[in-house]
Amino acid sequence: MSEEAIIKVRFAPSPTGPLHIGSARTALFNWIFAKSKGGKFILRIEDTDKERSDAKFEENIKTGLKWLGIEWDELYKQSERTAVYKKYIAKLLEEGWIYYCFCTKEELEDERQAMLSQGFAPKYSGRCRSMKKSDVEAKLKEGNPSILRFKVREAEITFKDLIRGTVSFNTSLIGDFVIAKDPETPLYNLAVVIDDALMGVTHVIRGEEHISNTPRQILVMDAFGFEIPKFAHLPIILNPDRSKMSKRLNGASLKEYIDKGYLKEAMVNFLAFLGWHPKDDRELLSIEEIIEEFTISRVQKGGAAFNIEKLNWFNSNYIKQLSDGEFIKLSKPFLPHGWKLTPAMIKSLKSRITTMDEVGDYVDFYFTLPNYDSNLLKWHESSLQDTAVNLKIGLDLIEKIPADKFTQE
Ligand code: GLU
Repeated sequence: MSEEAIIKVRFAPSPTGPLHIGSARTALFNWIFAKSKGGKFILRIEDTDKERSDAKFEENIKTGLKWLGIEWDELYKQSERTAVYKKYIAKLLEEGWIYYCFCTKEELEDERQAMLSQGFAPKYSGRCRSMKKSDVEAKLKEGNPSILRFKVREAEITFKDLIRGTVSFNTSLIGDFVIAKDPETPLYNLAVVIDDALMGVTHVIRGEEHISNTPRQILVMDAFGFEIPKFAHLPIILNPDRSKMSKRLNGASLKEYIDKGYLKEAMVNFLAFLGWHPKDDRELLSIEEIIEEFTISRVQKGGAAFNIEKLNWFNSNYIKQLSDGEFIKLSKPFLPHGWKLTPAMIKSLKSRITTMDEVGDYVDFYFTLPNYDSNLLKWHESSLQDTAVNLKIGLDLIEKIPADKFTQE
């Protein structure tokens, strides 16, 4: 990569579920990095898994990104790039980097068990690697099910991770991995390499769970002679007690938070602090300030704790900063039609609520008459009629007080 090359990052979600909080963090870090470097942000929909991908999740992902304020400079869908992949798979086949494997599930399972029982970490033995070309052709002709595997060479793969420093993997632990279902259908580790190279991605910023894919991808990049991008693996997200985050929380979609009335400023601030913080101890930062302050070297290696209390703290702070107009707009989805908030109500709400979905409960009594026992309003032995007359007198008195004089005192 030449020095003047424009910085390009990508967010590459698989649309197999709604945008979850961890992926939103990955997208945000990529986008902030691009913005801080005057670079470009690519959105790449990795929808090669036809059974599990769904257009409604793609929509959900895009809506979530836009809500966060993340706009993409380029958009790709892997399902529209079959012709490209086909060409590159053919090249790998022709040059002998990959081979057909006809092993059945049962054979692979037997092999796995045999390795385990001998105390080895299981990996593919490479049984089909040296099959004669004529045998391969015959088997294909007979219609035997097959997949394509990459020939892993013995090597120490080392790369510099911008967050973790030097990372090394010995490929003896990796068996020849499956890289395509057939000559037209690449799997993740192949499609990602082709796309990152052709799209000019300079920095691959993604979750730590992908770190073991990186040596595989570097092997494939080498096979093509592609330039190796820079890597940065973001810390995993943990519970506040540092235990592994539960599936439910980890899988919690961004939409659930939007629907509860979290503000995007609070969410952005909170997500940016999931693994990063500025030089000083400021915590309430606008997106512009985050972009200004952001450097990848300040991203931490260790797991980042997801603390809902912290998110709530951010949210109540940002709610306090809302103008009355903004407050009214944001509370609208949570209020029955016709309930109009007055400045005094807004003032008291701002200091009380944590999420916008709480507004209704707080102002309910202004708009609806509760069910109550009218006898409770009676003074000693007075009648209900007298009580009504006295309440009316009280109301008349209160109503004469101008709104600006009607203070807490
Ligand atoms: N489609 C992959 C995922 O959603 C992308 C991983 C990557 O960034 O390389 O996890």
